[in-house]
Amino acid sequence: MRCGFCLPACPTFRETGIEAESPRGRIALMKAVADGIMNPDEAFETQMNHCLGCRACEPACPADVKYGQLLEQARDSVEKHTTTHRWWVKIARKAAFEGMFPHQNRMRLLGGGLQLYQKTGLRKLLRGAGIMKLFPPHMREMEAILPDASYKGVVEQIGTHHAAKGEQVAAVGLFRGCIMDVLFTETNKHTVELLNEAGFDVIIPETQNCCGALHAHSGEQDGAKELAKRNIAAFKAAGVDWIVSNAGGCGALLVEYDHLLQDDPQWKQDAAWFAARTIDVSQLLVRHGRLQSAAQAAAAAGAGSVIGGGLQTAGGAGCGGSCGGGVNFASGETVRITYQDSCHLRNVMRSSEAPRKLMRSVANAEFVELAEADRCCGSAGIYNLTQPQMAGQILDHKMEHVKRTGAHYLLTSNPGCLLQMKNGIEKHGMSGQMQALHVVDFLHERMCGTAGRSGSPD
Ligand code: SF4
Ligand code: SF4
Repeated sequence: MRCGFCLPACPTFRETGIEAESPRGRIALMKAVADGIMNPDEAFETQMNHCLGCRACEPACPADVKYGQLLEQARDSVEKHTTTHRWWVKIARKAAFEGMFPHQNRMRLLGGGLQLYQKTGLRKLLRGAGIMKLFPPHMREMEAILPDASYKGVVEQIGTHHAAKGEQVAAVGLFRGCIMDVLFTETNKHTVELLNEAGFDVIIPETQNCCGALHAHSGEQDGAKELAKRNIAAFKAAGVDWIVSNAGGCGALLVEYDHLLQDDPQWKQDAAWFAARTIDVSQLLVRHGRLQSAAQAAAAAGAGSVIGGGLQTAGGAGCGGSCGGGVNFASGETVRITYQDSCHLRNVMRSSEAPRKLMRSVANAEFVELAEADRCCGSAGIYNLTQPQMAGQILDHKMEHVKRTGAHYLLTSNPGCLLQMKNGIEKHGMSGQMQALHVVDFLHERMCGTAGRSGSPD
């Protein structure tokens, strides 16, 4: 089929109007390579690299073409045949894909290095000396909005086992991520607390590692497979009912481990076990968590925060709430919130309603739908670093829609999208009115009564 239904869903086609920049055009190029009509040369590589990998073309396709899987195979083929990489690109790829991401302890060292850079006077010194001006603008923008890094990940800070509050609903394993765990450690901690309050025992297997998404999206299939096997072994040993992800980019590969390892007879079955149990944190909370309804939350907020058997906003360990009767998000002052979908969460994990349901259940928070929230923000893994021009163009269009919401909080569910949204807010001079947050952090803030923004949306 070449119906073209996917074309309007594709951000790069919408930006350029060029067939080769569309899913249909890219599939035609892949087919030409597979049929031996074309070599996987530099022109082919460039076209594959222009694709965001957002997979918005998949839900739009009536023939259920698995574009993301085709793209990963195409990039793998390019990497195996390429002769165009410069020496420093080869070294950088090897260092990142083999030397860094697979090793959680090295990722923590990286976090520690960043922490030193951020907390000592080094950052100020380099900026003052004009060193940052040597970097291209998009790198400087990213450096400016990096969150506080941490040497200690979630396990080093709070340990591996965390019991449910009240009666246990299920035992879940938290996927902590690699970059997520050193740049968004607080979000991981908040995820644990939120899950405990909603009735889940949480185990964080220590031997888990990077999901392999960056490998798979960059044509390093073998590396991705090795990481997948280690993760499967770690979570199988933990004996959990669910494997929870709080990062759309990671989760989308975790749910496809069965596809990744389909040709490996030794791992095929375990990979299917793993994929079937992987779930996004919002979906888990909505489908199985002990949550109070929006009406109960509103009543709790109106009644001074305590309702029968429900959340009490004072006392208790960690997050400060005791939720024997279920979690509600009744704390905090009136704000307006909006949401940017994580492409992989929406298009691969098919979780778009669950985060919205949670946001709508927050008392004193007016949820405003963001126009084209389902369109990629331009982050797309490291796309905003490798294809800054297209990523910047897409981000600028996105921020026009964001401005119109008048929201105080721009929420999302993936660390890459979150950084891109922070960047957009800074670039468009909106940092005085709006803050970008992970959905989990916002819910946690509302659950714990620590929301600090005063005033109401105008
Ligand atoms: S993955 Fe995204 S950018 Fe790539 S072809 Fe599909 S819709 Fe277009
Ligand atoms: S990928 Fe799907 S939607 Fe796009 S042209 Fe092919 S069949 Fe049609």
